[in-house]
Amino acid sequence: MGLHNNVHRRILGGLIILCSVVAVLVLRLAWIQLFMKEQTVPGTKYTLAKMAEIQSERETVLDSGRGRLYDRKSEPLAGETIWTAAFFPQEAKARNTVTQVVYEEAESMHRLAAILGVSYEQLLNKRSSLKEPLLWPSSVGKGPLALTSAQAEEVSALGIDGVGVLPFARRYDGKATGRQWLGYLSEEVPNTGGKASPSGLRIPMTGTDGLEKTLEPLLRGVGHTEAYAQVDARGQRVPGSPIQVRAPGNPYYPLSLYTTIDKKLQEQIEELAVKAGMKEGAVVVLDTGTGDIEAMVSLPFYDPEKISPEGGEWNNRALQAAVPGSIFKIVTAAAALEAGVTSADELFYCSGQYEKYGLSCLKGKGHGPLTLAQGFAVSCNTVFAALAERLSGAQLQATALALGLGRDISWQAENTLGFPVLKPLSGEQKGTIFTSLLPDDPGARVQTAIGQRDVQVTPLQAANLVVTLLHGGEVRAPRILQRVTFANGQKLEDLPGHLSPSTAGRISESTARQLLSWMRKVVTDGTGTSLQSTKWPVAGKSGTAQTLVKGMPRNNQWFIGYGPLDHPRYAVSVAVENVAPDSSHLAVKLFGQILDLLSSVPSGA
Ligand SMILES: [Zn+2]
Repeated sequence: MGLHNNVHRRILGGLIILCSVVAVLVLRLAWIQLFMKEQTVPGTKYTLAKMAEIQSERETVLDSGRGRLYDRKSEPLAGETIWTAAFFPQEAKARNTVTQVVYEEAESMHRLAAILGVSYEQLLNKRSSLKEPLLWPSSVGKGPLALTSAQAEEVSALGIDGVGVLPFARRYDGKATGRQWLGYLSEEVPNTGGKASPSGLRIPMTGTDGLEKTLEPLLRGVGHTEAYAQVDARGQRVPGSPIQVRAPGNPYYPLSLYTTIDKKLQEQIEELAVKAGMKEGAVVVLDTGTGDIEAMVSLPFYDPEKISPEGGEWNNRALQAAVPGSIFKIVTAAAALEAGVTSADELFYCSGQYEKYGLSCLKGKGHGPLTLAQGFAVSCNTVFAALAERLSGAQLQATALALGLGRDISWQAENTLGFPVLKPLSGEQKGTIFTSLLPDDPGARVQTAIGQRDVQVTPLQAANLVVTLLHGGEVRAPRILQRVTFANGQKLEDLPGHLSPSTAGRISESTARQLLSWMRKVVTDGTGTSLQSTKWPVAGKSGTAQTLVKGMPRNNQWFIGYGPLDHPRYAVSVAVENVAPDSSHLAVKLFGQILDLLSSVPSGA
C-alpha cells in the first residue's frame, strides 16, 4: 500500500513540474506575440512578425548523392567535385545605400564577368533578373561552369553580394568520349513538368547502361546536398541571410567505386584513335599480369548527356562481336598443334589459289613453299585451309572456348555486395565460332579457320586472348571494378581478379609459347614489319576480315599483340570496323602508336 502511495506521489509530482514548464512556455509565447513581435530581429531590419510573414527559401542542389566512380589512380570518372560560381537573389537594400554599393561592386563585377567569360552587361542582366539561385552554366554540356581553384579563390574574395563559390558534384564533363562502359543516366520517371532544381539535380536519375546501370544499387544516393538562402516576398534575399549548405551527413554514403581504368591512358588513346582517322571500332588495353582493363575505347564516341536511342553511339564496340579474319589463325594454329596434326617445320606450298571452296590466298601470285611458322607470319590462307581439313569443327570450337572465345569472359562474382551475380560489364557479347556444327562440311571449316563465315570475336576477347597466351594458356577474366569504399574511405569490399576457366579445358603451355614466338615473327618477317620501329620490341597478329554492311563490301582491320617483348606489360587489341576494302591497314599503325604511348607509362603506375 505504502509503495503504491509513493508511486502516485511521484507521478503527481512529475505532472506538476510538466504543467509548470508548459505554463512557462505558454506565457513566453504570449509575451513574444504581445510585446516582442514589433521588435527588430538582431542582424536584420525586420520585426519578428514581418520575418515570419515574408521568409521562404530558395535552394539549389549541389550533389545528387549518387556514388562516385574513380580510375585506378583515384581520378574521378563520374561524380567529380568541381568549384562553381553560385548566384543567389540579391539582398533587398535600403534606398540610400544603393548608389554607394553599386559603385563598389562595379569593379568586382567586371572581374567576375572576365572569369566567367561573359560581358559585364550580360552578367548584370543575368544577376538582376534572378528569381532562383543559379549555378553559372558551362558553355559545354548541361552542368555549371567549372572554376579552377585560383578562380574559385578570386571569386570568393570579390565578396559580391549573393555570389558565392560552392562545390558541385558533376556527373560528366559534357564531352563526347569513347568510355561507353561508363554508361549514362536517364530520368527515373519521365519528367511531367514538375518543379526542377535550377541545377537539374532534383529529378531522380537512374543508371541506364554501362557501369551506371550494373552498379546502380551501389551508386543510388541517400539524399541531396543543397545550398539555400532566405528570400522575402519579392524574391530578394533577406538581409543578413547568408548562402548556407545542408547535407545528409551520412559518413558512409555516397560510396566510392574504384575501376581498373587508367583515365589518362584512356584519354590519350581516344585522342590517338581519332587522329588516326578511325571512325568505327574499338581499342582494348589489358594489364598482362592481372588481365585488368586499363583502357577500353569505343568509336564513334558518345556523350552521356546527349543520348540518341537510334544513333547507337552508346554501344560499347569493345564488347560487341565482329568478324575477326586472320587473328583467328591463332586459334586454328593452336587447335592443329594441340591435335598433333602438324609441327612448326612442316612445309606447305601456296600457289595463291586453294582450288577448293572458292578460297584464295590474299597474296595473289602465292607465297610458294613455306613452313607453318612462316605461314603464320605472312598470314597465308592456303596453310590454314590445309590445317582446317585435318581438324573437326568440334576441335576448332573447343580450342576457341579453351582460349576464351565464344563465351562471356569478363569478371563476375556471385553473392557479392548484395548482388546474386555482380557483373560490372553489361552487354558483353559471347561471339560465335560456328552457328551450327552440323553438317560439318570442310568448306565451312576452312572458312572458319581463317576467321570468316560465322566467326565473331569481341575486341575484349581478342586482347584477352593475348593475355591467355602470355599466361601459358590460362584464361583470366578481365576485370574493370576492383574496390568499393565508403565515403569516409573505409573499405567495403575488395574485388580480386580471377580466372575464367572453360569446360573445354585449356591449351598446353608449350603451344602457347610456340604461338607467342610466331607472333614475334609476324613483326620480324611477316605482315607486321612496320612495327619494327616501335620504341619497344613488340609482337602480334594482324587480321583483315571481309564483311557486308547494307550490301556493301567492307573490311574489319585487326591487330592484337603485346609489348615489350621480354617483359610484357600490356596486351592490346585494335579493331577498325567497316572500312572500305581498299583502305590502308589502320589497325597496325594505331597499334604501333598505342604501344609507343604505353612505353612512356612509368612501370608500376
Ligand atoms: Zn599464301
